[in-house]
Amino acid sequence: MEYTKEYLAEFGIKPSIQRIAVMKYLLNHKTHPNVDEIYMALHSTIPTLSKTTIYNTLSLFVESGAVSSINIDKRNIRYDADIKPHAHFRCKNCHIIIDLPVPNVCHEVFSISDIYKDLQIQDVEISLTGYCQHCQKDELSETEE
Ligand SMILES: [Zn+2]
Ligand SMILES: [Zn+2]
Repeated sequence: MEYTKEYLAEFGIKPSIQRIAVMKYLLNHKTHPNVDEIYMALHSTIPTLSKTTIYNTLSLFVESGAVSSINIDKRNIRYDADIKPHAHFRCKNCHIIIDLPVPNVCHEVFSISDIYKDLQIQDVEISLTGYCQHCQKDELSETEE
């Protein structure tokens, strides 16, 4: 709990019980959860926590830079406590999202701001899709038909 409090304080976020719970969940679950998943995980222990509160809390975290939001899943915004530059891979079959630690690629894409100097570029999101190791074989045999 203390670490989570300190983490929030680093980003100038006042640590309420609900904020600590959401942040702690994100720090402990690197699965890039969406609002529904966080709600399902937390509402039994904190019944006063609504989906709207979770959504607003996450928006605050993203604005403060404590969490990044990722748009790799077109139906749901997903949230990531890992704010270091990295890319994401999403499996089209099982929808798992895997972190790809390729900071150099992220920095390289970001360097586009050297060319478009009149744009204030703040975030880079690199999303790759395909089939994970587990889903590959099935999919290959389907496409052969
Ligand atoms: Zn898969
Ligand atoms: Zn990630």
